[in-house]
Amino acid sequence: MVDVFLLRFTHLMYGSLQMETIRCKKCGYVREETDSAPDYECPKCGVVYAKVEARLKHQEEVRLQAEAQLQQKMLEEKESVEAQLRQIALAKKAKQEAEAARKKISIKTYRCHN
Ligand SMILES: [Zn+2]
Repeated sequence: MVDVFLLRFTHLMYGSLQMETIRCKKCGYVREETDSAPDYECPKCGVVYAKVEARLKHQEEVRLQAEAQLQQKMLEEKESVEAQLRQIALAKKAKQEAEAARKKISIKTYRCHN
C-alpha cells in the first residue's frame, strides 16, 4: 500500500519534472513528448525557443527603458510643478506679510493722527 503510494508519488514528481511544459512563445504550441523536432526548436512553427526568448527579452528591456524614461520625465515635471507651486505659495505669503505690515503701519499712522 505504502509502496504503491510512494511509487505513484515518485511517478507524479518525476512526471511533473519531465512534463515541464515548453510552450512556444511565438505560436503558443505546447511541446509534446512525442514531438520529434530537436528540443531547442518548436515542432510546429520551427522557431528556435532561445531566439524568440532573446527577442522577447530585448523587447521587454526596451519597453522597461521607455517606461523608466517616461517615469523620470513625469517625476521631473511633477517636481517642476511643485517648485512652481512653492514659489506661488511663497509669493502669496510674502504678499500677505507685506499687506499685514502695511495694515500695522496704517493703524499706527491712524493712531498717530488721533
Ligand atoms: Zn512555435
